Amino acid sequence: MMGFFKFNKNIKNRQLVYTESTGGWFAGGLGVHLDLTWGLSNSASATGLDIWGVGHELGHVNQVRPGLKWIGTTEITNNLYSLWAYYNLYSPTGSNRFTRLEGETADKTTFPKVAGNRFGEIIIQTQINGKNIMDQFRIDYVNALDANFRSLVPFWQLELYYQLAGASKGAQRLAFDSDMSDEDTQTPSGPGTGVDYAHWFATVAEKVRNTDESQLNQGQLMMNFVKNTCDAVQEDLTDFFTSTGFLRPINGTISDYSTDQLTVTQSMIDDVKAYILSKGYAKPVSPVINYLSANSVNAFKDLLPVSGVTGVGAQITNNAQGQFLLVDNSKWTNAVAFETYTAANQLISVSIVGTGDTTLANTYVDFPSNAQKVYAVGYDGQKILVYPASSLAAEDVKGSNNDFTVYPNPVKNDDRITISIKDAKGNYTCKIHTVAGQFLSEFKGNSEEINRRVNTQFNGLTKGVYILSFSNGNESYATKIIKN
Ligand SMILES: [Zn+2]
Repeated sequence: MMGFFKFNKNIKNRQLVYTESTGGWFAGGLGVHLDLTWGLSNSASATGLDIWGVGHELGHVNQVRPGLKWIGTTEITNNLYSLWAYYNLYSPTGSNRFTRLEGETADKTTFPKVAGNRFGEIIIQTQINGKNIMDQFRIDYVNALDANFRSLVPFWQLELYYQLAGASKGAQRLAFDSDMSDEDTQTPSGPGTGVDYAHWFATVAEKVRNTDESQLNQGQLMMNFVKNTCDAVQEDLTDFFTSTGFLRPINGTISDYSTDQLTVTQSMIDDVKAYILSKGYAKPVSPVINYLSANSVNAFKDLLPVSGVTGVGAQITNNAQGQFLLVDNSKWTNAVAFETYTAANQLISVSIVGTGDTTLANTYVDFPSNAQKVYAVGYDGQKILVYPASSLAAEDVKGSNNDFTVYPNPVKNDDRITISIKDAKGNYTCKIHTVAGQFLSEFKGNSEEINRRVNTQFNGLTKGVYILSFSNGNESYATKIIKN
């Protein structure tokens, strides 16, 4: 992962780890020090080894200074190794593979206290509130332990996207035990691109190993990480780095063992953006890498489109942790996250798929008292309204660029329904459900055939409320239609 093999730097074949029955776990001096009183098997058992902890301390020894250890990241960039080892070696019960970030329940600050809530917490801080990714390390804040884990999230998303999801381009994945790409090592790159996505971090590390950054300030080191990452994957990640708070201004004193000033000005951000633009890189396939987690990595890898029917498989629920829209993930296949909006269409929270339920059967979507609507989001950014069905109107349905209308609505028995899809392309699959989610019929055809079939179907239906949904594979629409 660090590129020791790729860049032929694998000189040492061992790293020193020593144990005592005192002193705690730490890195420094001779190497990694483990304390047997913290649990014998954690240090000394092949089956009980604390994979995260050992990776963490060895990670400290292997942090690249100063380029990948700017102020605030002392307990972050080492955990890139913990995440990678834990994901590959730890076998949770059940079939889902995930890490502490998806599995643990952290203290609440703004997002309810449920499993995986650090994703929701950091998304609110950065994407929604516009804070810098390092803002929570300012000396006037507390709760530093969890700040480490929350700010780790976007780094994990880069690992997932480029090491495991093949950059959504079918590129080879990074093998765990050889520092080489899976499926042998002949062409560890994206098809036809020559880019070695799987070794993105190795490439970034090699760049800073070979650059004298000793005179750079903390903010410049962080901006270089953004530029080096874009260069490594040859993609324009400015949207990702803006959403995740790297390209957001900050000017504050950061507490991270020592203290130091971290300054990122708008002008520094503009310089980074101009640099990336000058390279002419394309945007990544997925516009929502900032919603990626171990729970959704297959949707990004295999390009699986989100699907679901508005109003089906979602209900409001309250428990001791708060109010949620409880989403049945089997009814919302391949959703990678759920966005929660107010009545005024303001985004107020994002819940990654599987939030609150590591079995991935459900997602506990944050639904505070001012929430009104929830959209499911696919790996490609496509959004489908999940809830509510009752206020659904054509303008609530976010397709790609097309408009979709059904009229008249409500419809009387002798009315002819007209379905109009602007710039309709190809064949659509149309489904009719009752508002309670009961499936009634499905058919395929072009816009003309869909119009004909819908009218035939509706002639035979009793009075009531129905949900009409369409998809052509790229665009999906759904609407409630009232028959009276
Ligand atoms: Zn540490």
